[in-house]
Amino acid sequence: MTAEYADYTTGEPVVDAKAPEGPVNERWDTRRFEAKLVNPANRRKHTVIVVGTGLAGGSAGATLAEQGYHVVQFCYQDSPRRAHSIAAQGGINAAKNYRNDGDSIHRLFYDTVKGGDFRARESNVHRLAQISVEIIDQCVAQGVPFAREYGGLLDTRSFGGVQVSRTFYARGQTGQQLLLGAYQALSRQIAAGNIEMHPRTEMLDLIVVDGRARGIVARDLITGRIDTYFADAVVLASGGYGNVFYLSTNAMNSNATAIWRAHRRGAYFANPCFTQIHPTCIPRTGEHQSKLTLMSESLRNDGRIWVPKAKGDQRPANEIPEDERDYYLERIYPSFGNLVPRDIASRAAKNVCDEGRGVGPGGQNQRGGAEGSSVEGGGGRREGVYLDFADAIRRMGRKAVEAKYGNLFDMYQRITDEDPYEVPMRIYPAVHYTMGGLWVDYDLHTTIPGLFAIGEANFSDHGANRLGASALMQGLADGYFVLPSTINDYLARNPHHEKVSAEHPVVQEVLAETEDRLSLLLAVDGDRTPDSFHRELGELMWEFCGMARTETGLRKALERIPQIREEFWRRIKVPGTGEEFNQSLEKANRVVDYLELAELMCLDALHRAESCGGHFREESQTPDGEAERKDEEFSYAAAWEFTATGDAPVLHKEDLVFEYVHPTQRSYA
Ligand SMILES: Cc1cc2nc3c(=O)[nH]c(=O)nc-3n(C[C@H](O)[C@H](O)[C@H](O)COP(=O)(O)OP(=O)(O)OC[C@H]3O[C@@H](n4cnc5c(N)ncnc54)[C@H](O)[C@@H]3O)c2cc1C
Repeated sequence: MTAEYADYTTGEPVVDAKAPEGPVNERWDTRRFEAKLVNPANRRKHTVIVVGTGLAGGSAGATLAEQGYHVVQFCYQDSPRRAHSIAAQGGINAAKNYRNDGDSIHRLFYDTVKGGDFRARESNVHRLAQISVEIIDQCVAQGVPFAREYGGLLDTRSFGGVQVSRTFYARGQTGQQLLLGAYQALSRQIAAGNIEMHPRTEMLDLIVVDGRARGIVARDLITGRIDTYFADAVVLASGGYGNVFYLSTNAMNSNATAIWRAHRRGAYFANPCFTQIHPTCIPRTGEHQSKLTLMSESLRNDGRIWVPKAKGDQRPANEIPEDERDYYLERIYPSFGNLVPRDIASRAAKNVCDEGRGVGPGGQNQRGGAEGSSVEGGGGRREGVYLDFADAIRRMGRKAVEAKYGNLFDMYQRITDEDPYEVPMRIYPAVHYTMGGLWVDYDLHTTIPGLFAIGEANFSDHGANRLGASALMQGLADGYFVLPSTINDYLARNPHHEKVSAEHPVVQEVLAETEDRLSLLLAVDGDRTPDSFHRELGELMWEFCGMARTETGLRKALERIPQIREEFWRRIKVPGTGEEFNQSLEKANRVVDYLELAELMCLDALHRAESCGGHFREESQTPDGEAERKDEEFSYAAAWEFTATGDAPVLHKEDLVFEYVHPTQRSYA
């Protein structure tokens, strides 16, 4: 295996030593019981750093402070409640079975393991399904205004990859409402003096002393002041790294720096190539776009997806008669229809557009435009499919559609200037979520003692493909329930840490490295902006490590990325100084990390010569074009160890064992 690709070496396997033995439905209880506790009176003696205030970090910070720990928390926004989680639209899953439609904890567990294409841990996924029901109770108690039915029960809707209705929602603003719940809990603890909150402050490195995570280096984004902060444990809740692709549905500032810097200090990075491409985004419109917009998956409950049967049919949608339309998801996957999982819906959209049946205007393949680009343009290929509500409006009436999806329709109209009540929406897949992240064990503990990772920042529970409405569930499970239990065990077993002095040689070294990096970025004084490099990298990643990947393409990307990196350090231009608010400097520093992370993503994608979930290797498909997994070779999580920039990393494999949901080739037909 290693002989085939010389770009990495294989190290010792990695094991999750914390998941207990025994029946899967008892493991979480067992672990909680076996974990050591910290006496409530002693908790205030411990300081925990939490980086991030999204749903994962916000819920963790509030809960740890509520338990009595002293929390020092960071975010780069001006307020914790502006974290990217606020953008989440569609909903949050929970196995409440309010509809009595056959749902159960076991079914949510089963759907998630299968949906993740058998690349997630059974123990973690089962725990997630168990906790899902507690999350809803917690949020309702906080006053989160979930949608309700006429009878007063909480309402639900369906998301892709499942045949029950288990997604709880607050119109198209579920993330916002959940985050306001977490934020008010956080605010209570800030006011009580238990949380020391540092908004507008960005973690730039991790401090590891005597093999343990003991603090961070962070920069005040307003004044430019760089400081060190110390604690007994550090929790990273810094979100995903989808913006390595430049264009994604993520908030513009979401970035990889916190987890990448932790990786460089010794935390393994798992499954970096597992990226989720979301099928329902507004197609790109031009060369100068810097952001893509998601249209919630909930729209697939009532909208029907189609393209013209004939190639190159450019008639307006409303002039194409019914029998000349191809409702291709309903045709290929009759059981799940428009609600197939995201990876399947995305690939199907790509396939029909590749066949020349995509719809415009706009959405043409715009790639190949960035300065220095090594990606060829798509020659004006139309990249869009219709998401049509005409049937739903006929069936339910416009008012009912408006009540359910009104804010999403308004958003679409504002962006495209087309009225989706009159003409079908146009959608196309876009980068949305990263299933990869820092490797963590069952306790959410990374390979650096004292460093934990939660929410989208870790790799944990979704395998190779996350089902819709499961990210909010995981972030809140981690933050409200799992971490607050497991971190006790670590702190109880490591109670007497000496305080770390700011003068400690290790601290001084990390600080100096950070300052030198920023000074160098300012000193190059070249002729290209951080955005121009980011965009070039993003195009390369989308082309070669995006929806479909090949060995040839990945090798091309792996050859090109070090060249871009070299050029970056010769030609980057960062105006201004480091002692002020300087967004160019912030961006440039994030691009430095993307340029390293992208290389690891491509290497991971290259070594995994199988298709699974969001990772579609063209060489590995069934005769009818479906993803073909190779369980005998690749039924493991790939945990990568950093060596040095540009040097071969070390691959540690964590074998996955399936006792309850036996791997089969997924079928949604
Ligand atoms: C448009 C959109 C819609 C979505 N809709 C849904 C949905 O309906 N249901 C669902 O389940 N999921 C949805 N998702 C996915 C989900 O929103 C995210 O996966 C989830 O919110 C991530 O939460 P988080 O707490 O892990 O990270 P985030 O919310 O991204 O928060 C990251 C936090 O870390 C801080 N941070 C990051 N780096 C640093 C640093 N270096 N220093 C200091 N602070 C730092 C940030 O300031 C922020 O506070 C959606 C995603 C998008 C993009």
